[in-house]
Amino acid sequence: MNKTEWLKRACLDRDPGLFFDDSEIGVEAARAVCKLCPIRQFCLDWALTRPERYGVWGGTTQDERKIIGYRKLRKRCPQCRSRELDSSLTYAQACRKCGVSWRTESSKIPVAA
Ligand code: SF4
Ligand SMILES: [Zn+2]
Repeated sequence: MNKTEWLKRACLDRDPGLFFDDSEIGVEAARAVCKLCPIRQFCLDWALTRPERYGVWGGTTQDERKIIGYRKLRKRCPQCRSRELDSSLTYAQACRKCGVSWRTESSKIPVAA
């Protein structure tokens, strides 16, 4: 997606301050705009990769993006970053590519090679 796509955003004519109002009412008002936005997923991906630390992006708050980012991180091997994981283990995951395994309950630190 290029800069032209950003011109389709639902917040184009909105006061940017609306998206940086941390109050409950402010966040819900921003979300209402994002809900109708045609580039919402792109905006969210953008905010996750930068990462954008403040404001509502793609209909999510800073705290929500932290959770989403953490979940995404857990779906990759912590060692080689592969997404080819064996999820058949009860409290662990293993990487089919490099063979490392790690606990899924409280840590993403490898526990065996
Ligand atoms: S999803 Fe992103 S681009 Fe769309 S209205 Fe919300 S903040 Fe703006
Ligand atoms: Zn791996």
